[in-house]
Amino acid sequence: MAKQKLANLQKTDAAPLPYHSEDDLYRQRWQWDRVVWGTHCVDCYPGNCPYRVYIKDGIVLHEEQAATYNTIEEGVPDLNPMGCQKGAMWGQMLYSKERILYPMKRVGERGSGRWKRITWDDALTEWADAVVDAIKEVGPESIVHEVMGAQGGTMALSSVSRFMGKVGGLSMDLDGTTSDLAMGLYETFGKIFASTVDDWFHSELLLIWHMNPAYTRIPYYHYITEARYKGAEVAIFAPDFSPSAPHTDWYVPVRPGTDAAIGLAMCKVIVDEGLYDETFMKEQTDLALLVRRDNGRFLRGNDVDAGGRAEQFFFLDSKTGDIAKAPRANLDVGKVAPALDGLVKVKLVDGSEVECEPVFALVRERLKDYTPEKAAEISGAGADSIRYLARKAAKCKTNILLGFNSPKYYHGDLMERSMILMLALTGNWGKKGTGIRIWCVGPWDGIGLFGAKSRPGPEASMEIVDMLDRMVDVMQQEDPDRTREQAMVELETRTVGMGNTTPPAFFWYFQCGYKENWNKAEWSDPAMKRPFDDYMNEALQKGWWAGVARPMDDKPTRIYIECGGDTLRRTRGGGNMLLKNLWPKLTKVVTIDWRMSTTAMYSDIVLPCATHTEKINFHYATVHTLQLILNDRGAAPQGESLPEWHIFRRLCKKVEERAKAKGFTEYVDSRGVARRLDNLYDQYTMGGEFEDDERVVEEWVQDTAIAGTLPKGTTLDTMREKGVMRFTSIGRSGAMLSQACDLKEDETFCPLRWHVEQKLPYPTETQRAQFYIDHEWFLEADEQLPKHKENPKMGGDYPLVMTTGHNRWSIHAANIINKTMQETNQGRPFMFMNVNDAAERGVNEGDLVRAYNDMGEFKVWVKLTPAVRPGTVIVYNGFEPFQFPGWKDPSWVEAGMVKWLHLAGGYKQFRFRPLCWQPVQVDRSVPLEVELVEPALNGS
Ligand code: SF4
Repeated sequence: MAKQKLANLQKTDAAPLPYHSEDDLYRQRWQWDRVVWGTHCVDCYPGNCPYRVYIKDGIVLHEEQAATYNTIEEGVPDLNPMGCQKGAMWGQMLYSKERILYPMKRVGERGSGRWKRITWDDALTEWADAVVDAIKEVGPESIVHEVMGAQGGTMALSSVSRFMGKVGGLSMDLDGTTSDLAMGLYETFGKIFASTVDDWFHSELLLIWHMNPAYTRIPYYHYITEARYKGAEVAIFAPDFSPSAPHTDWYVPVRPGTDAAIGLAMCKVIVDEGLYDETFMKEQTDLALLVRRDNGRFLRGNDVDAGGRAEQFFFLDSKTGDIAKAPRANLDVGKVAPALDGLVKVKLVDGSEVECEPVFALVRERLKDYTPEKAAEISGAGADSIRYLARKAAKCKTNILLGFNSPKYYHGDLMERSMILMLALTGNWGKKGTGIRIWCVGPWDGIGLFGAKSRPGPEASMEIVDMLDRMVDVMQQEDPDRTREQAMVELETRTVGMGNTTPPAFFWYFQCGYKENWNKAEWSDPAMKRPFDDYMNEALQKGWWAGVARPMDDKPTRIYIECGGDTLRRTRGGGNMLLKNLWPKLTKVVTIDWRMSTTAMYSDIVLPCATHTEKINFHYATVHTLQLILNDRGAAPQGESLPEWHIFRRLCKKVEERAKAKGFTEYVDSRGVARRLDNLYDQYTMGGEFEDDERVVEEWVQDTAIAGTLPKGTTLDTMREKGVMRFTSIGRSGAMLSQACDLKEDETFCPLRWHVEQKLPYPTETQRAQFYIDHEWFLEADEQLPKHKENPKMGGDYPLVMTTGHNRWSIHAANIINKTMQETNQGRPFMFMNVNDAAERGVNEGDLVRAYNDMGEFKVWVKLTPAVRPGTVIVYNGFEPFQFPGWKDPSWVEAGMVKWLHLAGGYKQFRFRPLCWQPVQVDRSVPLEVELVEPALNGS
């Protein structure tokens, strides 16, 4: 198809065709003088679709899918052709009315919509003055930026992060701000991971859970249909009969927030019918480890031996009837026959005796509460569906296609742990076509190396690679039981305080007013026995967040930089909380964007940035494809817009100038790091070597090849020739070592294979996939094992609950006000409502309603549907707040709660490093009521 399209195009190096008829006009429309590689560096995760972009006279004419990915594994369909409707029309958006073309400064109140055009020099001077004053008066921690992948790709992220790193500002962690962190995976495996999407093809049972791939995985959806065509069965679990549901074999309805009950009922069927894989459970999981009956803690080495290790765990050996040490360096149980049931009396160091039993015995006990009938009563799912799917999972290569929905539930971790327990019982991970997944960055190691270098060139990169290897060696020497993965995790965890990435929970608590909401017992889990403040204080006093619990209340935020995101839309509680609590503290709000977002509307300065095809860039590399994909420069930036690199480079120059003028050029940040502003430009550009963004990208590619994750000798020219390139190795980063799988050139990528095939331990407290968590807080919450808990009433006790998900017509809010895209939907926000719920409230199709709870309210138009279960309303994510009456969107009824348990620390897998363990805000299943405000005109 691509070839046929190309044939219709003519490369014009000659004079335009003479005009004969209107046919000639049509032909001229398809003339081009330049073609570059393109993609769309937005958070369409996983995205990474290669495009060819056709340019004439410096203007993007159109773009089309390139379909250039190679076949990886014999017999597995390739990725081609990839794309979505947003990508296909992005060329038009470059020239659309929503483009910001010039720097602008507000002249009215924030949010008044009154602006004036200013010069770049004026804008940077005002911004730089505010930066220098904030550092002088409060310290660099008063400058905050939320790491956000929504727009601008790696170039936007690297540019702003480098500036923050140089001045000592705070970058809020990406997984913390997006709430995309699957805490249940983290609690179980001590890490997050993913397979490549082509690995789905190997599955025999696909369970789509918390995902709506027909909307959100458009380029990859074909793997689900191809697997099904090959014979796989597909089931979807969702509260609504979602757009993905008609294409599956099984639709399992779920009352929002009750998925754990379904997962545990599936486990009960598998256990009761003896369908479980004992070998896998004993070796890969903690299910055979002994737990003390007196205190609910694991039996540990220092319980039975005064000099024993606390990290030593024990089995009950069914051959001897005695306890046996569970191996730490390797999961192979050797000659021991670990029991899954039974009791054993163990003599402790103080001479007393304690009874111990394996975790699996406790699991059996817990599962008594989850018969399929009971789970059906809780969730609304059919008991027979639960039985059928459980039996099927026990026989098949089963793959849970987990979306980003469960992490946004208060008890999403319990849901995920229940699902993973089902996979554990059936031996379903670490083998092709099996497992579960979440967001993961790919092995784009050159960017990290570039950030660590103080001088350009390959030698500096090699020195850092060597140093890193030596540091990991030291971590392994410190504990010879540590695997390379564990040693890297240890290194990254210990050094996290040296970076500027921090979990946003402390920012929300100390600066944004969420402390009050989080302390409302009636909005929290009833298992939270003490006020939230008690847990926060305990966590801080025990040093569980040492080095990253910033900014505290003594460092009020002064400067907010928005680059790549839309904070007032995305933050749970958004405008309601931030405009009230954070905005008044800010001396300067600067937004860098190509369009006017809601955050831009409330900013002091808005700066226009270049976007796709106007600057050189790369899509976020992801484990889902393991390909690096170029987004080349081909057209001039519109108006006065600039690539982010140039914006921050110029800002550095201006800060340097203003700092000198103010006589404030040196300071020490709150960690004792001495910093200088009088050479900031040299620091940023490495002595002027990296003034141009193309030079930066060149170095990224070269450094990635040096790190060994791209073929040796790969350069920017190679990328320009090929457009895409598959990574050749997983590299050194903790994120990629956590995948625990070798990257082979002719195989789909399936994580956790090192654990299953080589028996390497997991980075958890017990060295195993861990279902029993004996942390004191988890015991207090009765969450030592997975269970179902009702969603807290976050925002009050109301009869309806609101859920959400990504819409079909926009990547987050990026395309939502584009005219072409608006013509594919209603062009205004809407709430899906069940016909019966609407009738009870006198609401009809198209009516304007008010949705409210104790947090706030918003107004929205209604769409009636029988596909949404009674008691639930859905407002898709991605509408801009300014599209709603009064600029109030659904975030105005969100309390922005976090689960207190996720402040826990002092446990192997409960330690922060970027993109890992931390509390995140939740927004699913928000209670509210709806009332009619205004009937639709003409009843429609
Ligand atoms: Fe692919 Fe993302 Fe572009 Fe859509 S917007 S075509 S998913 S890269």
